[in-house]
Amino acid sequence: MNIAVIGAGAAGLMAAARAALTARQSGIDCRVVVLEKNRKAGVKILMSGGTRCNLTHDCGPEGIMEAFGRGGAFLRQALAALPPIEVVRLFNGLGVATQIESTGKVFPSSNRAVDVRDALLKYATDAGAEVRLDCAVKSLKREPQSGGFVLEVNGDFLPFDRVIVTVGGKSWPGCGTIGEGYQWMRDFGHTIVPPRPALVPLVGGTEWMHEISGVTLDSVTASVWSVPQDGKKPPKKPLLARRGGFLFTHFGFSGPTAMDVSGIITAAARPQETRLTLDLVPDLTTDQVIRWVEDQRRGGRRKVSAAIAELLPRRLADAVTESAGATEVSFAELPRGKSDALIQSLKQLTLPVTGTRGFDKAEVTAGGVSLKEVDPRTMQSRIVPGMFIAGEILDLDGWIGGYNFQSAFSTGLVAGTHAVTSEVEVTCVN
Ligand SMILES: Cc1cc2nc3c(=O)[nH]c(=O)nc-3n(C[C@H](O)[C@H](O)[C@H](O)COP(=O)(O)OP(=O)(O)OC[C@H]3O[C@@H](n4cnc5c(N)ncnc54)[C@H](O)[C@@H]3O)c2cc1C
Repeated sequence: MNIAVIGAGAAGLMAAARAALTARQSGIDCRVVVLEKNRKAGVKILMSGGTRCNLTHDCGPEGIMEAFGRGGAFLRQALAALPPIEVVRLFNGLGVATQIESTGKVFPSSNRAVDVRDALLKYATDAGAEVRLDCAVKSLKREPQSGGFVLEVNGDFLPFDRVIVTVGGKSWPGCGTIGEGYQWMRDFGHTIVPPRPALVPLVGGTEWMHEISGVTLDSVTASVWSVPQDGKKPPKKPLLARRGGFLFTHFGFSGPTAMDVSGIITAAARPQETRLTLDLVPDLTTDQVIRWVEDQRRGGRRKVSAAIAELLPRRLADAVTESAGATEVSFAELPRGKSDALIQSLKQLTLPVTGTRGFDKAEVTAGGVSLKEVDPRTMQSRIVPGMFIAGEILDLDGWIGGYNFQSAFSTGLVAGTHAVTSEVEVTCVN
């Protein structure tokens, strides 16, 4: 048997390693060839996590599933086969010591993404997989006679019995991920959930928000709300709320929370159908903030901005105070309406969003091959026997925090194993 793995990213290298190992352990004669268009394997691993590679998250499978929202359940079996703890053990066993940060993110202790990439590449090649670089797959078709596949690579037409498609999505196209896999999948009859940028900085903001570009907040809660249409009541709960770091930029908003909620915003037909708010003081309830303001009012002469600076970084405190029209006055002098506006700004500051930085700056692609059409136990296409699909090309996108590599590793492992062991009913087509 010979198996092609298209794409030497996290999913493809893991799939190749496991296919080669499974074949060896089962005594199956199997050649595994990885075809990668770039001159280097694992380009996204190298650039990930600010070149430190946040390879997984310190949580159980349920925590990973939660990060993928509705897609999470699809990952259940793959995470059972390779949970986060096993990813850590695997890399430790490959010589990559790991460390867990307070946020739960797992990094190599060396803080070098290249160590993760090198270990994974060696894992695949030591297992017997052949990794061919500079080999862009131009087309992927069925081989009508054998029921296998033919791949067009550098002018040659290469036959394979089975294929594992791990070409990623279309984010950061400079890395080679331009989304050509979607058309192959469509041609095979797969449904592609429209790809859209996720984990992407948001464009928008007001003048004062741009003026405080560079201000970072360690722990705020960003919430996305649906905007009620046709006079319907406003929702009581947000579509998604994420707590963590946040950054004001000259174009809008970035940092983990802004990026985590970006996928929900891009899921709406227009950004105006959702509203983004920021709770600047998530450790205080609204009642506590109201009481704090009342205490300040009773306290007399202290300027509003000086008091607010107890709660927020100085530049933000000044900007919020100014936007509420409360500069140069004390709390005692502040009209009730303005102090209410201030409370609103602290607990539910509206951040106008007009769009995102697009695929060019999206860490992942949401959308992709419909999960309904892939068997979650094997990653085999339900439409194309002998084709296995793993990683970001699937309609899966998780939060920032190592979740996306975890998904790529787990789905890659399952695809690699089952590409060797699954009974594929090979039907001659066309
Ligand atoms: C800047 C940045 C930072 C990130 N940081 C993190 C992080 O720290 N933690 C985390 O969990 N996730 C992170 N991610 C997300 C993570 O990189 C992806 O989710 C993950 O790489 C997906 O793995 P994959 O193998 O499915 O796809 P990819 O890693 O995209 O691999 C696909 C491979 O297929 C190749 N390919 C594409 N088309 C063809 C073709 N026609 N022929 C041959 N080869 C082809 C590509 O060149 C590529 O090497 C980050 C992403 C970016 C952009």
